[in-house]
Amino acid sequence: MNTPSKRLILILGDQLDIEASALSDFDPAHDTLWMAEVLEESTHIPSSKQRTTVFLSAMRHFAAQLQMRGWPLRYRRIDSADNRGSLAGELAQAIATIKPDQLVMTAPGDWRVLQSLRAVAKQHDVPLEVRDDTHFFSTVREFTEHAKGRKQLRLEFFYREMRHKTGLLMSGKEPLGGQWNFDTDNRGSFGKKGPGQLPSPSRFAPDAITQEVIGWVNDTLAHHPGSVTQFGWPVTRAQALVALQEFITHRLPSFGLYQDAMWEGEVWLYHSHLSCALNLKLLNPREVLAAAEAALQSGHAPLPAVEGFVRQILGWREYVRGIYWTHMPDYVEGNAQQAHEPLPDFYWTGDTDMACLRDAITQTLQHGYAHHIQRLMVTGLYALLLGVEPKQVHQWYLGVYVDAVEWVELPNTLGMSQFADGGLMASKPYVASGKYIDRMSNHCKGCRFNPAESTGETACPFTTLYWDYLDRHADMLAKNPRMLMQLKNLNRLTPAQREAIGTQAQSLRTNKKAHQA
Ligand SMILES: Cc1cc2nc3c(=O)[nH]c(=O)nc-3n(C[C@H](O)[C@H](O)[C@H](O)COP(=O)(O)OP(=O)(O)OC[C@H]3O[C@@H](n4cnc5c(N)ncnc54)[C@H](O)[C@@H]3O)c2cc1C
Ligand code: SF4
Repeated sequence: MNTPSKRLILILGDQLDIEASALSDFDPAHDTLWMAEVLEESTHIPSSKQRTTVFLSAMRHFAAQLQMRGWPLRYRRIDSADNRGSLAGELAQAIATIKPDQLVMTAPGDWRVLQSLRAVAKQHDVPLEVRDDTHFFSTVREFTEHAKGRKQLRLEFFYREMRHKTGLLMSGKEPLGGQWNFDTDNRGSFGKKGPGQLPSPSRFAPDAITQEVIGWVNDTLAHHPGSVTQFGWPVTRAQALVALQEFITHRLPSFGLYQDAMWEGEVWLYHSHLSCALNLKLLNPREVLAAAEAALQSGHAPLPAVEGFVRQILGWREYVRGIYWTHMPDYVEGNAQQAHEPLPDFYWTGDTDMACLRDAITQTLQHGYAHHIQRLMVTGLYALLLGVEPKQVHQWYLGVYVDAVEWVELPNTLGMSQFADGGLMASKPYVASGKYIDRMSNHCKGCRFNPAESTGETACPFTTLYWDYLDRHADMLAKNPRMLMQLKNLNRLTPAQREAIGTQAQSLRTNKKAHQA
């Protein structure tokens, strides 16, 4: 009789799903589960206190769930004296102790991690089986097929394929409501009166496990970005399900209309705040979208809101993952616009007179969260216009947000926000002057700068840098029909105005305090 093989099943910090493909044939009589907290995952780029707390706490809660089932688990805590500090080191140690015949894992979310675990397996001559991540609606192979022969990739084509494939919001072969896209209904601002009474976000008081992690983070990673005095993220599946239900009940109906809106001091608005739970795999996107579709069917939420939400998860989330895995490892080196400025220091403190940036960065450091338009059209836009080196921008985003895992963060940062992939992912750079921020928020009302001015003492740095960006990249942008209107407006400026803008933009780059009174 053959002895069943002894397998070590690897579970990473963003794979906290009892139904993960790696666990589909788990046999507690012969297999062992392996999880490791390691310092390297918080230090290879400095991870914010909020982000490290989310990962460690959610891992410990998941491990407790596995232990309750009586499943054999080798769990390595970050504070154990002999912790080797890296996933590779810990795995090597586990192989030496357990002597498995085989390693099994669900495909990780980070190219670097996959390479390092493969190298350990090879070094120890143990076969490693990497299984598809069935959490997602599409596989990387399907995306590769979709991308074949296309010079440019566009969300819209991919998204429609996904709607057909899943039948979500479909009426036979046609989109429900006769339209694929309700973006024009989904660009509201709060107007002069502001958002009024907003629904409360779902926040969860730290339990003993989370408090212990917070204590360790504050002691050991005191110098890391942000603070963890206010922590309320879901760290268990049960909490994530509550967060989902509360979003569907209280915020989904207005999600679409106010998707792009911002308001000083208001962190949560009508967004779902589910990205972290989704990326840790505490929630499955199928159950999230089924809940949204049910809200539409019951008449609780309108179609534009539900379609806007479905587009983010079925469209963008799957699309960026495909881009990441089909273009790594070269993708991270992208710098199509040859941007080499350093990231301004105030990204780590929020210490700037620019009200919009101060607000977005402050809440980011406090909560590890900012919504999409804050990331794209405030922090991302400023870095793009200033000409910051894309890799530094990428490292900031990967470090500060609780939902940051490289497969989703990198294409959003390098491709969508910095146009550093030269237009592979986005059809044009997302650029605008301070007037866009003025239209979508109340930040400019309380700012010492004026979004309508591009030169002089009170000129808005976004507006100065916007014209300067168009001027500096005019040749490249002229090849893009979607940029022609913006270039036409640039050409309305006199040579003297353009020169003054160029000089002021340069001083924003060289004078580190130019944004402060
Ligand atoms: C520069 C930049 C960096 C980003 N980094 C990350 C990141 O590290 N991790 C991350 O999950 N998202 C990232 N995003 C996408 C998006 O901003 C966040 O998913 C969203 O703000 C999370 O908040 P929420 O859960 O309230 O989202 P909602 O506004 O409620 O959206 C619903 C869900 O849709 C998904 N989603 C929405 N937009 C995107 C998108 N562009 N790409 C992928 N999924 C999307 C998320 O899962 C999100 O939870 C980034 C965007 C930009 C512009
Ligand atoms: S004036 Fe400019 S810097 Fe100030 S809040 Fe408005 S867009 Fe931001």
